[in-house]
Amino acid sequence: MSKKHAVVDIANCVACGCCKKVCPKEAIAVAFGVYAKVDGARCVGCGKCARECPASLIRLEVRTA
Ligand code: SF4
Ligand code: SF4
Repeated sequence: MSKKHAVVDIANCVACGCCKKVCPKEAIAVAFGVYAKVDGARCVGCGKCARECPASLIRLEVRTA
């Protein structure tokens, strides 16, 4: 498993789905049509979603567990 995973700033996410479209691991779901949610177990920390978000709301964080 990668040492990093993607984390979404859900307070500012507009649920556009751009991040979800580019994820090679299908690790992102748009929850309740309101915000993007990353499945940490699937995410491999590639960073594609972070580069795609038009508002730069996704950051890669080092896993703590
Ligand atoms: S970092 Fe890569 S694998 Fe993880 S959610 Fe983003 S696009 Fe998907
Ligand atoms: S690309 Fe950014 S704004 Fe769009 S759903 Fe993903 S995190 Fe939210």
